[in-house]
Amino acid sequence: MKILEDMILERGIAVNEDILKVDSFVNHQVDPELMKNIGDEFAEHFKGQGITKVATIESSGIAPALMTALALNVPMLILKKQPSKILNQDLYQTVVTSYTKGTSYELTLSKNFISENDHVLIIDDFLANGEAATGAIRLIRKAHATIAGVGILIEKSFQPGYEKLTEQGIDVYSLARIAKLGEGVIEFVKD
Ligand code: 5GP
Repeated sequence: MKILEDMILERGIAVNEDILKVDSFVNHQVDPELMKNIGDEFAEHFKGQGITKVATIESSGIAPALMTALALNVPMLILKKQPSKILNQDLYQTVVTSYTKGTSYELTLSKNFISENDHVLIIDDFLANGEAATGAIRLIRKAHATIAGVGILIEKSFQPGYEKLTEQGIDVYSLARIAKLGEGVIEFVKD
């Protein structure tokens, strides 16, 4: 997606060979017009598949997921991060290891908001090792709901997440695919 790639080049900061900071338009300050365009793009790609809900992991996926849910005219689910397992019959829970923080958390979803009749699109800001997306898929499948696909703003294609998801037959649609990062270096995958 050209406008996202342009913004990454203009305002993104490659911290090192692994991490891209996009705090000025995605992760800290949020660009609403960009998010609207992203939501429309995901809705266009995934339309006509009977999606009943758009899910994201708190907190950076919320803005693009909300715009996607609005465009698809369905509710958005926020999968919540808890520091440790809580005993609660009304929740689905699964452990996820955080890429940026190197810590683990419990991803949780209330049984009130998901059922076997749901067909869910997952949206997240980054795809790196695929731990967050795989955890979200695991959680949604605990409810016997089905996965329509995964929409990603920024895929770091040099890390294994994309393969991990597509190997399981998941439709992954990434709006920007990064081939290489380094201090002052941001290169996209060539089509
Ligand atoms: P994964 O679970 O695929 O390894 O990592 C995805 C999650 O880690 C995303 O939800 C995102 O929050 C975070 N993440 C991974 N790589 C980056 C990065 O380069 N920059 C930022 N800001 N977050 C990242």
